[in-house]
Amino acid sequence: MPEEQTNTSNITLKGTTAVTGLVMGVARVYSRGNININPDPVDEARLPEEKTKFEQARKAVGATMERLSDFAHSRNDSDTRDILNAQHGILNDPELEIMVHQAIDERSVRAEKAIYDAFQHYIDLIKASEKSFLMSRLSDLRDVRDRLINNVQQLGMIASFGKNAVMVAEDVSPIEVITFARNGVKGIVCTSGGLTSHASIIANAMGIPMIIDAKSAMRTLRDGDTIILDGYGNVVIACPDEEMTSSYTRMIKKYKEEEKRLRHVIDKPSETACGTRILLQANIDFEEEVLNIEKYRAEGIGLLRTDTLLMNSGPLTMDRKRQEEFCQTAFSGSGSSQVTIRLLDVGGDKLLNIKAKESNPFLGWRGVRILLDRRELLLSQLEAICRVAGRYPGRTRILVPMVSNLEEFLEVKRELAGMQKNLQKKGVPVDPNIVLGIMVEVPSVALQIRLYAEHVDFLSIGTNDLTQYTLAVDRGNSLIASLYQPMHPAVLTFIAMTVNAGAEFHVPVAVCGELASEPFAALVLAGLGVRELSMTPRLIPKVKQALRLYHIPEMKKLSDAAMNCLTTDELKRIKSDWLAGYKEKLKKQQAD
Ligand code: PEP
Ligand code: MG
Repeated sequence: MPEEQTNTSNITLKGTTAVTGLVMGVARVYSRGNININPDPVDEARLPEEKTKFEQARKAVGATMERLSDFAHSRNDSDTRDILNAQHGILNDPELEIMVHQAIDERSVRAEKAIYDAFQHYIDLIKASEKSFLMSRLSDLRDVRDRLINNVQQLGMIASFGKNAVMVAEDVSPIEVITFARNGVKGIVCTSGGLTSHASIIANAMGIPMIIDAKSAMRTLRDGDTIILDGYGNVVIACPDEEMTSSYTRMIKKYKEEEKRLRHVIDKPSETACGTRILLQANIDFEEEVLNIEKYRAEGIGLLRTDTLLMNSGPLTMDRKRQEEFCQTAFSGSGSSQVTIRLLDVGGDKLLNIKAKESNPFLGWRGVRILLDRRELLLSQLEAICRVAGRYPGRTRILVPMVSNLEEFLEVKRELAGMQKNLQKKGVPVDPNIVLGIMVEVPSVALQIRLYAEHVDFLSIGTNDLTQYTLAVDRGNSLIASLYQPMHPAVLTFIAMTVNAGAEFHVPVAVCGELASEPFAALVLAGLGVRELSMTPRLIPKVKQALRLYHIPEMKKLSDAAMNCLTTDELKRIKSDWLAGYKEKLKKQQAD
């Protein structure tokens, strides 16, 4: 299929599916960068709303600046910090608020126009003064202005998208995906992005189909176009004609029926055809997802990402009570099963705006590195977890992210022991049996895995990062997306080494990266000896269905074949042969 057809109907764009699904909706072109001021006045009744928009934008931009300034401080970057502090001063200038409110009240303009004019007033004053030291402040002023206006426009834009929106954007951040999800967006199309970028992971968790790398989307698709996002066929179709619309309507119906059929497996035991138990746990990012644990019969939580707690707040601090609430919800939503709480893993692509300050954020200040530098964050997390764990003895696992040397783990272990002792002294009930493990996601750890296995209580393999660090392929970069191969023999070798070390030292080994949620990959992982898989709960039935149809020796054959692939094509062939056989098995099962 050509990359782009430019008829007036059935405009078809190729992309790569990051989250499968099929939806039909209305294209909403979303851009952070453009500042187009609407000068038209608004009804008097809307004026208070415009003022609220300004206040909300001021708060949000202020929080981002504080976070950036905090980050600059931690890097001893006093220049950046000074600029940000000056910008913060502008933002909080009472004069700015007066001018914006006055413009809204007296001229009935929108918040964006009022902000623009207020800043223009400052800019004109500086220009008239002709003082060179003030001239250098102009770009700071414009930057604050643009951030405010962008924010105001986005607030209005997202709220007005309506439930049928399919977002079309260059790229989206994790926080934007959360905002989309909370506003009922149906699908996301991006011109760039990565399959396991955190934005994709969150879209997956939220069940929002997403296509990335649809290169010409921003040029070709127009706001308001009817759009079909076909995550099964890796295409986006705009302005479908009648025939195309009814063909896709039929397809949507078919997929819905298939989903229904999959429900038969939900209550079946999670075991292979030969009776080997495979623990299927949930990856949870948000409180909203906790209900899915029971719905899809996940056996506990294999990965509770706590990062969203920080993304929702402003500066680099976490409210302990809020963390306790989140953990409490996780425990009460998972019956009597295990809850694996991962310590904060921000950095990389997960700390909005800050990534620009590091040239290699994925190799930078991330995960446990931040926690050990900002000890108060680590202690606050450990305290929140230990307090809640005390109420649910025997169920807590703590997972340390982005470990790249043993000392990091040992240091967290010391802090955990100290925290438990302190709480005990204060009379707070604690669970002495909390277990502590690490994410295996950095090659140095996988290479020396026996050393770690001696010290940790469990290991959880993060294939998303392990792949990017092993193959030196940024997980969020669409230019090299085809090189991002989580089933590359090098990655599988690291997984096999980890499983073997786990068996030798009697340490449980789980896989919690996205790989665990693909049926074919799940079989390969089970063939390598993995017995715990953790994934977005709604994908559990599909994986369980596959596991139940194969025997361990068959899975071992698949994993041997995958480990010995010399080329990507070879792996593709093995997978498509398997798929053909799998479809047959499913057909037979349905017929029986
Ligand atoms: C991983 O790296 O595989 C993982 C599960 O963690 P995250 O995707 O949050 O980095
Ligand atoms: Mg990771």
